[in-house]
Amino acid sequence: MKIICIGRNYVNHAKELGNDITSEPLFFLKPDTAIQPKGHPFFIPDFSNDIHYEVELVIRINKTGKYIEEKFAHTYYSQIGLGIDFTARDIQEKCKSKGLPWEKAKGFDGSAQISRNFIDKSDLDLNNISFSLQKNGGQVQQGNSKEMCFNFDTIITYISKFYTLKIGDLIYTGTPEGVGPVVAGDKLKGFIGEKEMFKVVIK
Ligand code: ZN
Repeated sequence: MKIICIGRNYVNHAKELGNDITSEPLFFLKPDTAIQPKGHPFFIPDFSNDIHYEVELVIRINKTGKYIEEKFAHTYYSQIGLGIDFTARDIQEKCKSKGLPWEKAKGFDGSAQISRNFIDKSDLDLNNISFSLQKNGGQVQQGNSKEMCFNFDTIITYISKFYTLKIGDLIYTGTPEGVGPVVAGDKLKGFIGEKEMFKVVIK
């Protein structure tokens, strides 16, 4: 399986990092080894002094497809989960300033936190999914799928022009504003609506 992540999909997050809004979805990959084993703590890697959380809605692909038409895109996923795209912001800024790829800052082991459970999309209003992240009991990020620049179906259609999507592939759909650093001892909890989707301890 592969992990595809969308960047700059929420206007206010793009602004907080000083980035322009893109006219087409911006995406990058994480390897499957980035998946954080369920229930494990997140260990801050020694190559970074500035690891940031980015809470994101996650689509799980349930059918193989290529060149997927937008009107059929909704048939390629049935569930939505929640994850964190952990980012070594210091490394990413260095890569960006030199015009280099981001993978070193985005794809390291444990950088893809994913919820244990996914929610059937029939139980959600896809255009109005509110989600949030708490750090040590206080809310640090709050977003809603209605604020996405590119919705789930548009993302699937766009990515499938370049990559065949396969069963089990995960698409992280971008983070709202409020990203910030973690330090050892922090506890993060992610929610879709009121439902707790995951918790992770930082070490
Ligand atoms: Zn992200």
